Amino acid sequence: MNGVELRNVTKAYAGLTVMENINLEITDGDFVVLLGPSGCGKSTLLNMIAGLEPTTGGEIHIGGRNVTELEPDERDIAMVFQSYALYPTMSVRKNIGFGLKMGGMRKDEIEKRVADVGELLQITPLLDRKPSQLSGGQQQRVAIGRALVREPSVFLFDEPLSNLDAKLRADMRVELKRLHERLGRTIVYVTHDQIEAMTLATKVVVLEKGRIQQADTPENVYRRPANHFVASFVGAPT
Ligand code: ADP
Ligand code: MG
Repeated sequence: MNGVELRNVTKAYAGLTVMENINLEITDGDFVVLLGPSGCGKSTLLNMIAGLEPTTGGEIHIGGRNVTELEPDERDIAMVFQSYALYPTMSVRKNIGFGLKMGGMRKDEIEKRVADVGELLQITPLLDRKPSQLSGGQQQRVAIGRALVREPSVFLFDEPLSNLDAKLRADMRVELKRLHERLGRTIVYVTHDQIEAMTLATKVVVLEKGRIQQADTPENVYRRPANHFVASFVGAPT
């Protein structure tokens, strides 16, 4: 019961509606990709799930709980941003463990979790470096590690690979897919990149101007686009 459900979610910024009546059911363990052009509302939707933006109307449920009014740290989620937002003065080890420390976890438990995550993401040799001593791809791994270490039910990713070069992006896609298979947790992942959506998702949600145009398997979105917009954005070439 660790899925995410959006019920009639709407959002307005300063009176201007940008999302209208979003209904979406994300099953436990799904890798859902929110796909659409810049400005269609992907980040807004993700930030509402995270609790970083209030909803204007509707309800958000995570793991069967209505979390609409809850703070981000009460929602059993962890978010990875496009800008890695690492603490520049802290070592990788401290960056990854910081959230747990703030949450009052015991030092030996934090050390164990950080070591496990370091191994999983293959960054063990980097744990004592500062972020400035890492490549972009390594920094992205640390940002992912910081989310993993908290062991939430739901991971939220906002364009996590868009600052990486093409080769690294392809490698990271493979790794994210593997990670999802190993963890079996729910992932909601925002991108404007069709290839990322098609290779990573168990379910693709295509957005245009704050509306869901289609929510289906990558295969169906590609082969049987629901309308002209979906066809032109992700559909098979005709
Ligand atoms: P995406 O992530 O798909 O590029 P966003 O969710 O960032 O789209 O934006 C969706 C719409 O909401 C856009 O029209 C954008 O200009 C508007 N918007 C996003 N954030 C704000 C904000 N803080 N204040 C006002 N308008 C915003
Ligand atoms: Mg965005």
